[in-house]
Amino acid sequence: MDEETYSPDRPADGRVVCARCGTAADGDTAPPTWLCSMEDGRRLHFCEDCARLHIRAIESRLDSLWW
Ligand SMILES: [Zn+2]
Repeated sequence: MDEETYSPDRPADGRVVCARCGTAADGDTAPPTWLCSMEDGRRLHFCEDCARLHIRAIESRLDSLWW
């Protein structure tokens, strides 16, 4: 899937960075294990570990703490 959506929080080198812990993805797109979320029109990525925590937060309705 090739997406051209402008991502303001994408660093200048084009790498995807986890919005929560700052881990950089290996390539210029998020790995399939990463979670992608739209917030205020921006695309946020979360690495595998953070996605797991994020999903848990959604399920337990704690998302407002860091959304
Ligand atoms: Zn992370």
